Amino acid sequence: MKNKTNLVGLTLAECEAFAEKIGEKKYRGRQLYKWIYVKKTAFFDEMTDLPALLRDKLAETARIGFLEIADVDDRSLSGSVKYLFKLPDNFFIESVYIPDVSRKTLCISSQVGCALNCRFCATAKLGLKRHLSTGEIVDQVLTIMRMRDEEISNIVFMGMGEPFANYENVIKAATLLSDDNGLAIGARRIVISTAGIADKIIRYADEGHKFRLAISLNSPFQEQRSQLMPISRRWDVNNVLAAVKYYAKKSRKIPTLEYVLLDGLNDTKEHATALKKIVKSMPCKVNLIPYNPTGDNFSRPGAAQVNQFAQWLLPLNAGLSVRWSKGDDSNAACGQLAGKKQEWVR
Ligand code: SAH
Repeated sequence: MKNKTNLVGLTLAECEAFAEKIGEKKYRGRQLYKWIYVKKTAFFDEMTDLPALLRDKLAETARIGFLEIADVDDRSLSGSVKYLFKLPDNFFIESVYIPDVSRKTLCISSQVGCALNCRFCATAKLGLKRHLSTGEIVDQVLTIMRMRDEEISNIVFMGMGEPFANYENVIKAATLLSDDNGLAIGARRIVISTAGIADKIIRYADEGHKFRLAISLNSPFQEQRSQLMPISRRWDVNNVLAAVKYYAKKSRKIPTLEYVLLDGLNDTKEHATALKKIVKSMPCKVNLIPYNPTGDNFSRPGAAQVNQFAQWLLPLNAGLSVRWSKGDDSNAACGQLAGKKQEWVR
């Protein structure tokens, strides 16, 4: 099975090249691309405009995705559903489906585990196992659309992993997801969230991508931020903010600053004042995320404190939202994705 080419993750040009490689005409690649990303089929047998012989040849040489559904958790009262996928090398990753009145969002993973070791995040506890390929990233979306028989309108790269640590695969996946001739999820409906890898933010700005960008700030103070997010020792908060400003200016897009609220730690008036100063210095939006417990030493501030923190930020000439995570009653909320089964293998 592993010798077969995974067609999920191939661009149109790569599908055409694959067709030629197996001795077929180039346009067969275009047909394949359509079957995979537009019609979202998983089986060559369903590709009715391909000759039977070609369908047999494809079944021998290729596959449409390698992800296996290992578990589906739909216990959350909010309607969000957590999907656990098994990879061919027995690692596990998770994706979360989050329905809303106007959108169906999928929170997807970019790595198995994560190297960044943010203290409040469940994925950090796994360490980094490996990057996901482009195909493994896109296949989360295709498999879930097929299972649910439903289109996904929005994508957030906020599952397991640091997207900008797996930059090429993530950008290629987002490009495929947004291809008008393929999956056609609007680029403005795709959010890439980074813990703040400044050189990649600059590169992202220079390359002119249309996907939205979110940065996990979590503390305006370098010393505290470094304790919470060790990556801040490599790229300090001033570096990251300078990169975000560069991005905002160059792209003329409005980045989001995400801010996980940790009770008694980063939810004081002093923090709000410093955050407000940052927000006033650049075009951006603020997204407050009350911490979701992951079984460590932090706790979530009460609703009154969350509201107080938001009040301290006002008036603000910028969008401000509070993300009360919807999946938290089934361990599917922000920062809670750890693919717990991981412990059973390797
Ligand atoms: N590595 C990327 C994307 C994954 S985390 C990043 O850091 O942005 C997605 C968001 O969830 C980040 O804003 C992160 O700060 C937040 N997060 C992580 N653990 C959390 C937790 N336990 N509760 C609430 N938010 C959390």
